[in-house]
Amino acid sequence: MNCIVHISIPCPLHQHFDYVSTEPKTTWQAGIRVKVSFRNKEVIGITLGASEITESSHIEKLKPIIEKLDQQPLLDEKTIKLIKWVSQYYHHPLGECFQAALPKKLRSIEAAELKTEKSWQLVPSAEQIKLGSKQQTIVDELKKQSRSTSQSFLRQQLGNITPSLASLESKGLIVSEEKVLLTARPTSLKPFCEFNDQQQAAFDAVKEKLDQFQPFLLAGITGSGKTEVYIQLTDQVIKQGKQALVLIPEIGLTSQFVERFKQQLDATIVVLHSGITDSERKQAWLLAKRGLADVVIGTRSSVFTPLKSTGLIIIDEEHDSSYKQQDGLRYHARNIALIRAQRAKVPIILGSATPSLESLHHVEQQRYQKLVLDKRAGEASLPKVSVIDSSGSDVEFGLSQRLITAITQHLEQGNQVLLFVNRRGYAPVLMCHECDWQAKCPHCDALMVVHKSKNGLYCHHCGFIQRLPNQCPQCQTKDLYDYGVGTQKIEETLQNRFSNVPVLRIDRDTTQGVNAFDQLVEEMHKAEPKILVGTQMLAKGHDFHHVTLVGILDADQGLFSADFRATEQLAQLVTQVTGRAGRGDKKGEVYIQSQQPQHPFWSLLIQQGYEKTAQKLLAERTDMAWPPVGALCVLRAESQFQEQALKLLTEMADLFNQEQQTEVMIMGPVPAIMEKRAGRYRAQLLLSSHHRKFIHPLLDHYLPIFAKLKLAKKIRWSVDIDPVDLL
Ligand code: ADP
Ligand code: ZN
Ligand code: ZN
Repeated sequence: MNCIVHISIPCPLHQHFDYVSTEPKTTWQAGIRVKVSFRNKEVIGITLGASEITESSHIEKLKPIIEKLDQQPLLDEKTIKLIKWVSQYYHHPLGECFQAALPKKLRSIEAAELKTEKSWQLVPSAEQIKLGSKQQTIVDELKKQSRSTSQSFLRQQLGNITPSLASLESKGLIVSEEKVLLTARPTSLKPFCEFNDQQQAAFDAVKEKLDQFQPFLLAGITGSGKTEVYIQLTDQVIKQGKQALVLIPEIGLTSQFVERFKQQLDATIVVLHSGITDSERKQAWLLAKRGLADVVIGTRSSVFTPLKSTGLIIIDEEHDSSYKQQDGLRYHARNIALIRAQRAKVPIILGSATPSLESLHHVEQQRYQKLVLDKRAGEASLPKVSVIDSSGSDVEFGLSQRLITAITQHLEQGNQVLLFVNRRGYAPVLMCHECDWQAKCPHCDALMVVHKSKNGLYCHHCGFIQRLPNQCPQCQTKDLYDYGVGTQKIEETLQNRFSNVPVLRIDRDTTQGVNAFDQLVEEMHKAEPKILVGTQMLAKGHDFHHVTLVGILDADQGLFSADFRATEQLAQLVTQVTGRAGRGDKKGEVYIQSQQPQHPFWSLLIQQGYEKTAQKLLAERTDMAWPPVGALCVLRAESQFQEQALKLLTEMADLFNQEQQTEVMIMGPVPAIMEKRAGRYRAQLLLSSHHRKFIHPLLDHYLPIFAKLKLAKKIRWSVDIDPVDLL
């Protein structure tokens, strides 16, 4: 045996494991995949380094490495360092953090090789000879191209060409090579817009700092031209021979954004989101790592994508909660992106029309530089916003008379209407008037939602489905009533009321298919009257040029939620949705239905705008030393037995409380607000401090002790650093 290799293995333990190798220590850099035997199973681990065998090492106890899977490290030093930081910060086992950072195909034994394709080019010295017409077109096409041209591209342009290619090759006129499969580049580029003064100032500010770490908050209202600024800065970065990483929220609306990058940049752009195959993901990841992709655009988990030469990081819609992973490794992509930018010494742009309180706080602390775009690019003006009282009796299936009148007017003028409903399905409540029975999920503390089209009752929390009963299961009465509105009921109501206008619905139920969302969006691009009903999927970065009226039907939920971020999210949602009206040259109108139209939140938001509202919320958080001013951590536990989750957290709380310290408040444990979910009872213990630096050492000390508790080995529990919600 030659050396001891330290290996990180995907398992819940916070440690690495040692194996022996017959190869010399120098061949074992960090970041190499290996196959080893672990607890009688073969697993794939990642090397962290190696050390010499000394007299004191007990190598007889160590197992040999079964197979070395990479000759060159798959992960570079920077990426390994980043993942180690993630593991420490989120108190999550390193082996599992590596799993999160690798595409699925590379968590296995698959070779880390790029796919190639056959490409053709002309032999420059070849003689001119008379050719058949098909062969001549191929030669002409190849003359147009500066680089060698892929066979698949030629086939796309010219049809079946395989025999002609073979014949040209045998005549010595063309040669082929295997070239790395890159994503297609546009044949013609769409020119950049000429910036307005604000865009120019934002562009200049970032450009000036392209070779140093500087976070920018690009606070730009919807339609103010943020994306245009991102694109032109990305172009600068590409011209420097560097790569840009662009993060976007996790939602089916990415294609418009991505298309604009593809149309305007002569670059290899790879896209990483849930809609691509595992092979595509692997290819994209490897292209990024080797520096062959100029731009990586992706959702949350792309923040781990290794880049050869980072030039700029952009996070669009930085306030979006989908940047936070809610299970397993509970990381926040914005947080990790900031660390990456800092280490790579490059600027990072956080863009939003409704910046998070976190980012606004950092601006106040002068850690971020704020860039403002408060004019709409082009001619579009901001819509007029009104709050309608929806507590009265003139509300019919969730729509007030005033809103119905407005819808009628806007449709008559040939415009489109967008209605926003917080819940999918038909109705959130099904009940019996005789005995007060309500349809509840047997596995959750939640009501079942009526989905009329599928004739079923659905639990939106655990996925449990039941047939829609035709009589009360308790008293057998035939008349059951549904209450409240979901997207389907609104759709049905509107179809009855406006029978000559198409009504489209966008929610998770209608956008399951691969292109379903894009097709619905395509429909909206036709300039004819239409009504679009949808959930918050619609609130994000999408251009609907013909929409002049936006209605928010059930805006109140966020006002009375038990969650500390609910009001912030409501303000963001309303502002984002408002930005959807009047993006063309027509003026827009927004109606917000509220049961509490007098609530001071509405006048503040409508008269003073998002940032003033955010400032007030930030002041409230400051008073309580809550995030972003203070820091939180939640320990969660769940069990199928009601008392166990609380019992485990009580043991943990007791241990914490033995510590003589005053910096971290230990609150709870308490049952979760929805205590039972998917058949498990859930509880949580909250740690709060005016500074995060006090929370981490406490966890470092106690988590290993907790892991040894008897109950901790039996039931599920987790640590959530910087939780986004406490529900
Ligand atoms: P945001 O990302 O802030 O929502 P976009 O970049 O999507 O804004 O811009 C909104 C619309 O205005 C887009 O159709 C875009 O092409 C156009 N646009 C952006 N900047 C300009 C400009 N300087 N001149 C003209 N049109 C512009
Ligand atoms: Zn009944
Ligand atoms: Zn359920």
